[in-house]
Amino acid sequence: MIRLSKPSISSIEMNNAMKVLKDEYLGMGPLTHEFERDLSEFFKREVVCVSSGTSALQIAMQAIQTKGSPKTEVLVPSLTFVGSYQAITAVGLKPISCDVDPITLNISLKDLSSKFNEKTLAIMPVHYCGDPTGIEAIYKFAKKNKIRVVEDAAHAFGSYTNRKLIGSFGDIACFSFDSIKNITCGEGGAIVTDDKKIIQRASDIRTLGVMGDTKRRYAKKRTWSFDIEEQGYRFHMTDLNASIGIKQLKRFPVFQKKRRKLAKLYDDKLSNIDSIELIKRNYEQITPHIYVIKLKDADSRDSLQDFLLQQGIQTGIHYFPNHQLTYFKRRGKLINTESIYPSLLTLPLHVDLTVKDIAYVAQAIRSYYASL
Ligand SMILES: *Cc1c(COP(=O)(O)O)cnc(C)c1O
Repeated sequence: MIRLSKPSISSIEMNNAMKVLKDEYLGMGPLTHEFERDLSEFFKREVVCVSSGTSALQIAMQAIQTKGSPKTEVLVPSLTFVGSYQAITAVGLKPISCDVDPITLNISLKDLSSKFNEKTLAIMPVHYCGDPTGIEAIYKFAKKNKIRVVEDAAHAFGSYTNRKLIGSFGDIACFSFDSIKNITCGEGGAIVTDDKKIIQRASDIRTLGVMGDTKRRYAKKRTWSFDIEEQGYRFHMTDLNASIGIKQLKRFPVFQKKRRKLAKLYDDKLSNIDSIELIKRNYEQITPHIYVIKLKDADSRDSLQDFLLQQGIQTGIHYFPNHQLTYFKRRGKLINTESIYPSLLTLPLHVDLTVKDIAYVAQAIRSYYASL
């Protein structure tokens, strides 16, 4: 079976995790601190590590709020993982579903501009497939209108735009280290920013709001006397997870090269199949998290998926539009999202795939359309 996605775990991660297990200090401690310092070095910014990408977004959403502010709306593309939306509603904010740009499938600046108003607190752009194209224009808009930007950078670990690393500039970027992301901790996430107040609040919020708990936990100590100033959650990273992430980060240059190579190979092998359309991405700049194609005949998607599965190839759909889910439903159509999503299909992409695997997938798609 060619899996849609999976992590690449070597004896290096296993040995480091085993050390934590033998030490019998599994919770948040010095290894979480070490991973944060390594990531800080990578992004040249401050980092708070948490339990998941979703909790990173939720904490960021809470940390940008000021008490009594009438700003409650967050502009977010409908075409994203439900985690983006749940992180917004979890802290009492309102997701305002925006359409996507038909070329990049990132949030449409035109559509978000039309939905911007005095209640807008922030924009949450999603770097779909890992491609941050358009983020600079969004920052320009946000600056002009004095609103915040919390990037859902879950797909974009190790991606660049105009030679700037995602997470190394801008307002706040949130990453995911769940088991299939560009690097993994098993489960995990990170908040990256230059804003010291956000870093302070985020590090307290993740430890149930217990102020100053982070520092003591890094020294393997507990906090017995403390104060709490706001709602917190049990969203800290654990040393067992950090032990995996530390080693994954060291292997990342290899992962990055491989992901880029495989995506370029797909582009090459699929380029002359008339029934599909490729999404142009600059793989010198981006590190692809998923590889998505557009089918010219959306009605063929189900049967193509079935056919590929019979050939031992898993595929996926990223994503069912959030504005069509009962909990997030609102009035208004999103023309591009609604017309494009039925034709999207995600092909297998992970670093343990081989050149032969990619050729096999491409050949299977070719033979499906040849048989129609
Ligand atoms: C994975 C992902 C998240 C959430 O990350 P978790 O670590 O799984 O909670 C958020 N947004 C997008 C676009 C993702 O792909």
